[in-house]
Amino acid sequence: MDRYGDSTQKPRVHKAEVMDEISSWDYVIVGTGPAAAEAAVAIRELDNRGKLLMLGAERQLPYQRPPLSKGLWTGKDTVEELPLRSAAEWDGLSVQIHLGDAVIELDAGARTLTSASGRIYRYERLLLATGGRARQPELAIATLRDRVFTLRNFQDYERLQAAARPGLTVLVVGGGFLGAELAAALSRQEGLKVHHAFAGNAPLAHVLPPTLQKVVLARYGKAGVQLHPQHRLEGLDWEDGSVRAHFTTQAPIACDLLVYALGMESNLELAQQAGLTLDKGGVLVNTELRSSDSRIWAAGDLATYPDPVWQEPCRLEHWDNAEATGRAAGRAMAGRSEPFRHQSLFFSDLFELGFEAVGRCDSQRVLRVAAPPGGGKAVVYYGDGDWVEGVLLWNVWGKADAAREGIAAHRPLMDLHWVETLET
Ligand SMILES: Cc1cc2nc3c(=O)[nH]c(=O)nc-3n(C[C@H](O)[C@H](O)[C@H](O)COP(=O)(O)OP(=O)(O)OC[C@H]3O[C@@H](n4cnc5c(N)ncnc54)[C@H](O)[C@@H]3O)c2cc1C
Repeated sequence: MDRYGDSTQKPRVHKAEVMDEISSWDYVIVGTGPAAAEAAVAIRELDNRGKLLMLGAERQLPYQRPPLSKGLWTGKDTVEELPLRSAAEWDGLSVQIHLGDAVIELDAGARTLTSASGRIYRYERLLLATGGRARQPELAIATLRDRVFTLRNFQDYERLQAAARPGLTVLVVGGGFLGAELAAALSRQEGLKVHHAFAGNAPLAHVLPPTLQKVVLARYGKAGVQLHPQHRLEGLDWEDGSVRAHFTTQAPIACDLLVYALGMESNLELAQQAGLTLDKGGVLVNTELRSSDSRIWAAGDLATYPDPVWQEPCRLEHWDNAEATGRAAGRAMAGRSEPFRHQSLFFSDLFELGFEAVGRCDSQRVLRVAAPPGGGKAVVYYGDGDWVEGVLLWNVWGKADAAREGIAAHRPLMDLHWVETLET
């Protein structure tokens, strides 16, 4: 088994022969992210005989992405700890995994997939769990390509990690989860000067209420990060040996390296080839994660499904959502169709600060911030009027289930028993 970071160029076929002919499978999963991994395990729990294949464009076995913007930089996590399961464990589950060979064609009529290396697979049931890719900046100037980075996968991490050397100045653009986490993580790198530019007033301003935005701003300041609020990127160029980032209304910022953290886009190409119905940038699925083609399911960042509380189509880009939808899709594929009711949580870590959140957490709709004296912890309620539609637990752990239960039951903020459970 290759170690992480091995970048041999040939596609790697794990425990499976290279086939000249079409091979037939009961289940094929495209993607090797958390949605794919959970789906495979869920299928195996219900069907230990069906032939099950996972196909991945990346060269790594399914692994954790969250440490790529957090713990790998601080030493809290190691590369060896990233895989979700070892090769031996996947073998034990009889899950065949073909790595480093992207699927480039889906013929839904013939029920076949073709990979970049020319392998053809026929499926009975197919899961699309292709996730997304980082949005890329337009780089007209070739020199910029060595200096501008995005972060979605392990290879991106390796590239940035190799470039982030002492004495350099790095500018992280984007105040969403990825940009905020990465700016915090990079500030811990010896000798690296970190700038962070974002469109709002603070990193994570779309989620955090003003009181917590202040806490976060102070923490970045303490770490020596140069903050640039209200900076909306307009373009990049190369001048006097530096990358120069231009903003709509502010002065340009010069840096040695620039991390472009302005969101992701779904990998929709296969779904489009199959003519699947799309919505909100994803594959539209029903409550059982089944797409408009009855033999194809979708899960993870790619899937747009009816929100279990509000019933409107929703697509989330979070780890727990990927695992939960993957698991539900796997079960449905193996014959156990149940309506998907899990309301996902999301989490983030900035320095030693961290939170978990459930539901809709829009900083424009904050109902109340309960912050007990002594600081450090807070429970933030979001919603409309008295009705809570989201809860963010700031440095408060083990309460996500209670938050989820209250939101699903449409508890109002006046429900003192529920509120007390969350706050004590
Ligand atoms: C750096 C980083 C940190 C994150 N941290 C957090 C966090 O702290 N908390 C949180 O809640 N969420 C976090 N997320 C988001 C979370 O990781 C994603 O929501 C989750 O990975 C989505 O899982 P997925 O299985 O749907 O897709 P992905 O994880 O994107 O996996 C999709 C896989 O499919 C493969 N693939 C795509 N197209 C093809 C094809 N045609 N053929 C074969 N394979 C293909 C891709 O190469 C990829 O391996 C983070 C994301 C990143 C990038």
